[in-house]
Amino acid sequence: MSRKLSLIFICISLICVGCPSGPKKDEIRWVTVEEIARSLENQPPMKVGFDVDDTVLFSAPGYYYGQQKYSPGSNEYLEKEEFWNELNNGLDKFSLPKECARTLIALHKSRGDTIYFITARQKTETETVTDLLAKTFNLDNINDVIFTDLKAQAILNHDIQIYYGDSDADMKAAVEAGILGIRIMRAGNSTKRPFPEYGSLGEEVLKGSEF
Ligand SMILES: [Mg+2]
Repeated sequence: MSRKLSLIFICISLICVGCPSGPKKDEIRWVTVEEIARSLENQPPMKVGFDVDDTVLFSAPGYYYGQQKYSPGSNEYLEKEEFWNELNNGLDKFSLPKECARTLIALHKSRGDTIYFITARQKTETETVTDLLAKTFNLDNINDVIFTDLKAQAILNHDIQIYYGDSDADMKAAVEAGILGIRIMRAGNSTKRPFPEYGSLGEEVLKGSEF
């Protein structure tokens, strides 16, 4: 019996060792928009970057629609050019702007910062995402959305100093480019799974940024 118990104990220990151990909620480096504003107070205007999906737009409705239409129950729709054409040319009319993005963009606008949007969405011949973001966030002279998987390179190419994003890939791109990455949290019903472990890369996480 005791042998059995120790075997169970060993198995549980092994399972736990294999578990990813992200920071506990009280160990996360939380940051607020007010704190970001204060940290930038004496700094000249700079270039900042934002990811699009789940960072500035809650775009799950368009992705959900695409999945139902092109590959119910699987992620194959993400390989279909037709889906990306539809998504980038109108489905964002169903995307909800995130409140945290409104506040952050207003802060950077008020400082005179230059704003870039960088997305890993597949590039399509035409897109209406740039216009939609311009209208949604009241951005005159908006820079065209940058569609690329190589976000670190885009950050470096445009001399961006702060990059906001929800995915590990966003935070890793910021690290790779040697700049500050700030994590935006996904809304709980985002279709993008699995959810990342906020703060697991040592990054600052914007408080309340699910909305
Ligand atoms: Mg994203």
